[in-house]
Amino acid sequence: MIDFNKILKDGNSFNDFITFIKNHNEKEPTNFSFYQTMLFTLIDQAPIGIYILGEKSFTYVNAHFSSMLGYTKEELTSGDWPLNKIIHPDDFSEIQKNIIKRIAGDKKPTRYKIRQRTRDGRLIYTDVHGTAAEIYGEMTMFGTVVDITEQVEAERLLYESNERYESLFQNSPDAIFTLDDNGMFTSANPASEVMTGYTNEEILKMSLEPVVIPEDLPKAFSHFQNAKEGIPNNSDISIKSKDGRIIQVNATHFPMKVNGEIVGTYGIARDITRRKILDKQLEELAFYDPLTKLPNRKLFEDRLNQLIQFYGDGRQQFAVVFLDLDRFKFINDSLGHQIGDEFLIRFAERLTQSLRKTDTISRFAGDEFTILLPDITREEVLKLVEHINDDIMKEPFIVGGHSMTVTASIGIAFNNGSEDTVQELIRNADTAMYYTKKNKRNGYTVYSEKLDLKAAYKLTIEQDLQHAVQNNELELYYQPIVDLKTGKLISLEALIRWNHPEFGIVSPLDFIPIAEESGQIIAIGAWVLREACQQTKKWQDSGKAPVKTSVNISTKQLQHDNFVEVVLKIVEETKLDPKWLELEVTESILLDDVGYIKNSLLKLKKAGISISIDDFGTGYTSLSYLRQYPFDKVKIDRSFIEDINKDLNGKRITSAIISLAHSLNMHVVAEGIEDEIQLNYLKEENCDEGQGYLFSRPMPVQMLTFDEE
Ligand code: C2E
Ligand code: MG
Ligand code: MG
Repeated sequence: MIDFNKILKDGNSFNDFITFIKNHNEKEPTNFSFYQTMLFTLIDQAPIGIYILGEKSFTYVNAHFSSMLGYTKEELTSGDWPLNKIIHPDDFSEIQKNIIKRIAGDKKPTRYKIRQRTRDGRLIYTDVHGTAAEIYGEMTMFGTVVDITEQVEAERLLYESNERYESLFQNSPDAIFTLDDNGMFTSANPASEVMTGYTNEEILKMSLEPVVIPEDLPKAFSHFQNAKEGIPNNSDISIKSKDGRIIQVNATHFPMKVNGEIVGTYGIARDITRRKILDKQLEELAFYDPLTKLPNRKLFEDRLNQLIQFYGDGRQQFAVVFLDLDRFKFINDSLGHQIGDEFLIRFAERLTQSLRKTDTISRFAGDEFTILLPDITREEVLKLVEHINDDIMKEPFIVGGHSMTVTASIGIAFNNGSEDTVQELIRNADTAMYYTKKNKRNGYTVYSEKLDLKAAYKLTIEQDLQHAVQNNELELYYQPIVDLKTGKLISLEALIRWNHPEFGIVSPLDFIPIAEESGQIIAIGAWVLREACQQTKKWQDSGKAPVKTSVNISTKQLQHDNFVEVVLKIVEETKLDPKWLELEVTESILLDDVGYIKNSLLKLKKAGISISIDDFGTGYTSLSYLRQYPFDKVKIDRSFIEDINKDLNGKRITSAIISLAHSLNMHVVAEGIEDEIQLNYLKEENCDEGQGYLFSRPMPVQMLTFDEE
C-alpha cells in the first residue's frame, strides 16, 4: 500500500503514484485525504476521456476513455498495449511527431483531431488536447479526448448539403434567386442570367419590377408578399428579357427560413415558353382545324352544348347555321387539292371577318362549315346569311391565279326549348341545308318540321318510282333548240316528266337524284332512250323534217357496265339513224373518270351518235380538258345566261366559253334564254344555238308543232 500523503510530501516516484491511481478503486484508500479522493474520483468519472501516456502505451485512462473506445481500462494500460491498434494509420504520424517533441522537452499544450478505431471496429473522430509536465523528473504526457464524431458528421452533412445546394444553384437550368425584404434580388444563379439576359451584377441592382411584364406585376408582388408571410405559391407569369423577349415562366416563391425565422424569399422560375407553345399546339390539334385554323367539330359541339345548358330554357335565342359549299369537289378535282385548300382558307377568313366575336364558326368537315350565333334575332340571322350569299360568295376568290366564285347552300336551325340537343340542332340545320341544295341554288332554308315531312316525301317518291315505268306514269316532253342565226329548229331536248297519281307532275329535279341514289335511274334511263328514239323515228316516218333528239344521260348510267351496248341496242331496235341522236352528259362525269367513260363516249361517237356537255361552267372543268373527250357541243349553263342581264361577270363568262369552245371546234348552245336582251347578246357573241322559254317551253308530244319535210 502506498502512502499517498507520503508520496505528495516526500516525492515518491511517479510510477508509485500511477500504481496508486490504478488500484485505488479496488483497494480502500484508507490513508487518502478527502480532497485527494474527490480529485481522483472526478478525474475517473469525468464525462470526457482522460489519459496518461507512458513510453509505449497508456499508463492510465479514465472510465469515459475506456467506454469511448470499448476496451477495458486493463486492456488499454496493460503495459505494451499498441497505440496503433486504435489510432487511424493516417493519423498515427501526428501522434509520433508529438511524442518526439515531448521527449525533446517541449511541454506546450497541443491539440489535434485524430480518428480512432473502437473495439467493435467503428471509426470515431476525437479532439485531443495534450499536454506534458515533468513529474518527479519524468516527462509525463497526459490529456483529454472528446468524441466529436457526431459533430464531424453534422459538419460533413452540412458541407455536403451546402455543396449540393451550391451545385444545384450553379447548374440548375431553372433560374434560382433570392429576394430581400424589399423585393430586391440578393442572389441569382447563372440560369437567371441566361434567362433574362442581365448579368448577375445587373440583377443584384434590380427588383421584380423591370423583369416581370406590367400585366403580371400585381400577381408577382402578391406572391412575393405571401412568401414573405410564410405562404409558398406557384404560378405562371411572363417576364421580359433585357432584349425585350417575352418569356413565360412557371415561378415558385417560398419563404427562406433560417432557424425558423423568415429572412427573405426564394424563387425558382422555369422557362415554360416551349411548353406553352406545345400546350397550345396540342389544344389546336384537338380543337382546331389545322388547315383553316377554325374550331373543329368537337369544339363547335362543345360550345353549342354550353349554350344549350345555359339558355336551353329559351331565355335566349341562338342559331346554328350549316353551310355547305356547292360543287366544291369540282374545284378540288379540276384545279387540284392545293388550290382547293387555299380556297378554303380564304373562304374561312372571309367568313370569320363577317361574324361577331361571340360567334363560333367551325370547319365541320370537308367543305361543310357550321356557325353558332348566340343571342341573335331571326332577322339578324337572315340578314347575315343573305350577306354571306350576296356579298361574301359573289366576290371572286383569287387563288393560285384562278378567279373563282362558289355558291353555298345554307340551312338554319333556331333553338327550340329545353328539349334541344346538340345532335338535333345540328341535324336540323343540316336537313335545312340539304333542302336548299336540292331545291334552290344559292340560297338558304330555315329548318321547320315540314322539312322532315320532305324526307318522308322522298321515301314515298322512291317507293312509287318503282312502279312508275310499268304504270306508264313517265312521259317525255320536248323542248326545241334553235339555230340563233336562222331561227330554224335544230333539235329537241327530251325532258322527262312523271305524272304521279297523287302529286301530279313531279319535276325531274325532284326524282332524278332519288332515282340516281336508289339505282332506279338505270331502268328509267333506258326507258327514256327507247322512248325518245322511237318518237324521233315516228316523226321522221310521218314526214316531219328530221331533227336531232337529245337525251340527258346520268353519270350513273355512264358508269354502268353495259351502257354502250344498251344504247346501241336501242338504236338498232328502234331503227333510228344514230346521227339523229345526241346524248347530253354533265361535267361531273369527268371527275372520277379514269378513262372508262371516255372510252364509252368514243365508242358511241364512232357509232355516229353526237355527244354534248350539259350545264357547262358549273363544275370548274377547264375547257381545254374537254378536248380529250369527243364532245360536239357545249351547253352553257342557264345560270350564266341569267347573269347576262345582271352583271358583267355573266357576259364575260359566256363570251369566254363561246370563244374557247369555238377554238376547240365545238358548237355552243345557250340554255335558258328568256328574253331578247339575252338573245341579242348571244347572237353578237356568235353563239350557235339557243334553247329557252323565249322560243318554247318543254312540250308534250301532242302539243309540238314543227315543219313538215
Ligand atoms: P337540263 O338538261 O339542263 O335541262 C334544261 C332544264 O332547263 C329543263 O328543266 C328545262 O325545262 C329548263 N329550261 C329550259 N329553258 C328554260 C328557260 O328559259 N328558263 C328556265 N328557268 N328554265 C328553262 P327540267 O325539265 O325541269 O329538267 C331539269 C333537269 O333534269 C335537266 O336539266 C336534266 O339535268 C334533268 N333531266 C331531265 N330529264 C332527264 C332525263 O330523262 N334523264 C336524266 N338523267 N336527267 C334528266
Ligand atoms: Mg340537258
Ligand atoms: Mg342544262
